[in-house]
Amino acid sequence: MERTLVLLKPDAVDRGLVGEIMHRFERVGLKIVGLKMVQAEQGHAERHYTEDLAVRRGQHVRDMMISMLMEGPVVALCLEGIDSVELVRKMVGGTEPKAAAPGTIRGDYSHMSFKHSDEKKIGIYNLIHASSSAPEAEQEIAVWFKPEEMVDHAPLYTKRTIPE
Ligand code: ADP
Repeated sequence: MERTLVLLKPDAVDRGLVGEIMHRFERVGLKIVGLKMVQAEQGHAERHYTEDLAVRRGQHVRDMMISMLMEGPVVALCLEGIDSVELVRKMVGGTEPKAAAPGTIRGDYSHMSFKHSDEKKIGIYNLIHASSSAPEAEQEIAVWFKPEEMVDHAPLYTKRTIPE
């Protein structure tokens, strides 16, 4: 079992897609073990979009994404399941919505291109963040949840006894 962090970014909340996106994760059997709505402040957004993003994508992208994360509330989810990091990334789809495969969350609900975001000098609106590795998930879960905010619960089927 593995845990991963998902953020429904301000554009997802703004567009009223919270329920629909959460439904997809529930449908595949991922278990919600953490759930909250947060209006992030500067320091919080900086802890989420770390220096690593500046190294990979450029300082300007990190700055834009920190601002975008604060544009409105986000919904933070901690999901648990088998290889959940990989599964959730697959369901979320590629970074650029224009190129994200149909059937993925980004591919089905957004369409912005890198070209458009460059021209407008804005970050890519792609609805959702998902941890990209198990170590990143562990670090990101700690950014959004205190240990006591996580709810550990077993699926009902694991509690059933097998008749002899
Ligand atoms: P992902 O969220 O797919 O893991 P990254 O971690 O590389 O992608 O980037 C974080 C977020 O920054 C992306 O989800 C996207 O919203 C935005 N972003 C990444 N690269 C660019 C770019 N070149 N121009 C504008 N926004 C970008």
